[in-house]
Amino acid sequence: MRVHHLNCGSLRKIPPLGEGLTAGAAHRERAAVCHCLLIETDSDGLVLVDTGLGTADVQHPDASLGADWVAYAQPVLDPEESALRQVVRLGYAPQDVRHIVLTHLHRDHTGGLPDFPHAQVHVHPDEYRAVTDPAAPHHQDTLDRFMPAHRAHGPLLTPARVDEHAEWFGIPGVARPQGPACELLLVPLAGHSAAHAGVAVRDGDGRWLLHAGDAYMYHGEIECTPPLAHPVFEPVQQGAQVDAAARVAARDRLRGLHRDHADEVTVFSAHDPWEFARVAAMVPESRSDADA
Ligand SMILES: [Zn+2]
Repeated sequence: MRVHHLNCGSLRKIPPLGEGLTAGAAHRERAAVCHCLLIETDSDGLVLVDTGLGTADVQHPDASLGADWVAYAQPVLDPEESALRQVVRLGYAPQDVRHIVLTHLHRDHTGGLPDFPHAQVHVHPDEYRAVTDPAAPHHQDTLDRFMPAHRAHGPLLTPARVDEHAEWFGIPGVARPQGPACELLLVPLAGHSAAHAGVAVRDGDGRWLLHAGDAYMYHGEIECTPPLAHPVFEPVQQGAQVDAAARVAARDRLRGLHRDHADEVTVFSAHDPWEFARVAAMVPESRSDADA
């Protein structure tokens, strides 16, 4: 198997903080990213982790993403950044993406769903319940944020299966998507959305990658002591969260994971451009914006 790090949607430019950053090119303003993973499995096609912005978002941004969000997030709207175009550039057909695993259902993570209408879409069972069950906590909020343009085609939303006693590095409630031909887990990191989850994937070398979605937004939050939030990302995080205490608890789990298990797990988030450049550079053959 092989894991590619894709930026599926550049957003507004973010100034560097100059703290907790490595030297050189890190000290530049960079566009926020939509960090997605494309996994080439050995036996069953491709798995996409989060989908960024899709081709319809780029063509009709206000209608698809909402004019207020577009004005704030300032997406670059380059069709070449869509997961669809990147899959094709790698020599695959869109139908080769058989499975999509989502951290949560916000617009900057679900935009690519209509480009892969045949793919099975796996979410944590609690996030599935939040969007499908009117009696679930935060149901209306979850549904409102799942953009109509991203679900009008009827995505094949599927709850992953919780293994009763399953823990992952001490984190309970992990769920296993049924179907993908690789080792994948949805790891509960709630707070940003009702049942936001990280996606853990074991790479070909036996190490884990953890796509932590929006559980944190700037690497200083898990790498610095005390946690260093970014002043551009922090209001976004505060505005989006459904449960502040749960979000901070999730962030602190990730701080512990980074501190105690960095040799076994590489943790990264969805939008931090410096982190994206660093993690993508660890995979020489992956296409990334590391040198953009
Ligand atoms: Zn996001």
